[in-house]
Amino acid sequence: MKIPAMLSVEDALERILRYTPVLEAEERALLECLGRVLAEDVRAEVDIPPLPDSAMDGYAVRAQDIRDASLTAPRTLRVIGEAPAGRVFPGEVRPGTAVRIMTGAPVPRGADTVVPFEETDEMNRRRSPGAGGDVAIRKAFSAGAHIRNAGEDVRKGTTVMEAGAVLRPAAIGVLASVGRATARVVRRPVVAVLATGDELMEPGLRLEAGQIYNSNSYSVASAVLRYGGIPKVLGIARDNLPDLEAKIAKGLEADMLITSAGVSHGDYDIVKDVLAQKGEVAFWTVRMRPAKPLAFGALVQRLPGGRERRVPHLGLPGNPVSALVAFEIFARAAILKMQGRKKLDKPSIEAILEEPITNSDGRRVYARCAVTRRGGRYYARLSGSQGSNILTTMARANGLAICPEDVAQLNAGQTARVLMLDWDEYQALDEQD
Ligand code: AMP
Ligand code: MG
Repeated sequence: MKIPAMLSVEDALERILRYTPVLEAEERALLECLGRVLAEDVRAEVDIPPLPDSAMDGYAVRAQDIRDASLTAPRTLRVIGEAPAGRVFPGEVRPGTAVRIMTGAPVPRGADTVVPFEETDEMNRRRSPGAGGDVAIRKAFSAGAHIRNAGEDVRKGTTVMEAGAVLRPAAIGVLASVGRATARVVRRPVVAVLATGDELMEPGLRLEAGQIYNSNSYSVASAVLRYGGIPKVLGIARDNLPDLEAKIAKGLEADMLITSAGVSHGDYDIVKDVLAQKGEVAFWTVRMRPAKPLAFGALVQRLPGGRERRVPHLGLPGNPVSALVAFEIFARAAILKMQGRKKLDKPSIEAILEEPITNSDGRRVYARCAVTRRGGRYYARLSGSQGSNILTTMARANGLAICPEDVAQLNAGQTARVLMLDWDEYQALDEQD
């Protein structure tokens, strides 16, 4: 296979996404739908609220009866009963009477207004008036006051949520409010995660001389989870073809395979050889720093009956920071696309650089930085050493500041686009000084 030229980040992403399918839909219990994309239009089979109900705790009355009520000349009504939430009051509010009513209770027949307790003598009493007692109304309200109309939130028969919506907590609540216990949502992708390297040892075990702990499997599997995928951790493949091929074969059952290491130019970097032999499309360098060596291909799984299935295989670089940066730029978008998400770009902001970012060789630089906001403006400074093996500075960063390919240096005081790694936490990290 011809070795392709170094691709731009955009070209690489475009190729990856071209081989990344949107997965099929499945029916799921509501609590499993958070963050997932709805695959059906949901229509309400009920009005919400189903009946006119009270917006306050108070007295259901006839507006006509209290039109002259005031603090100095309260109007006294006879209480004929109570209307708690969850029941329809059996009687009727006739002239001169009232029903003590709770928030959410259907408004009794005859009543057209609710007077909140605060506007009655309710608060001055030890005990509330039972049926047969009196209540003094101290303020006039017009008809409809403190009453929520039937269908005010949702009208029966209307579409409350459309296919394509990302289900946030409020959306899950809306589905529940129209009586849905399940929803059709796009399936979550199973993402196989495979580390490669003779030097790797699993955490929790004792290191031998020359070994290091496998951190990529854990950071990558966590990132898979974070973006909605289901990680299937396949352990470590050693740097020989039989072991690598055997472990990759397990990855073919997943929706995507992500390996780390073995894609640069060392003697044992054989992941890309496997891709070159078995993959359908392949590339392995991207004009970016870190993560220049990056492999991608579509592995072909042969199914019974002569059918074939293509499994996207993303070969991340071995260096822990390169692996995560490449994940954020490429794997994240692919995992979101598989789940039917449309917005695939990472959230980004413009920030003023507090120190320069240098670009030595015409690649797009993603510099780990700490973003803060002061006086309503965003500032970015490097979170420490930018070596692609220095994982602690990635852990301390909340953003990746970009120096474009064609810019040799961005100076302090200049503005840079910053991809936000931790948008939520960063919002809270405001105004530190
Ligand atoms: P390679 O791509 O195999 O040349 O690996 C590049 C660098 O990443 C080497 O220093 C490896 O030891 C390191 N590395 C590879 N895989 C892992 C891993 N799973 N966890 C931590 N470091 C790794
Ligand atoms: Mg290696």
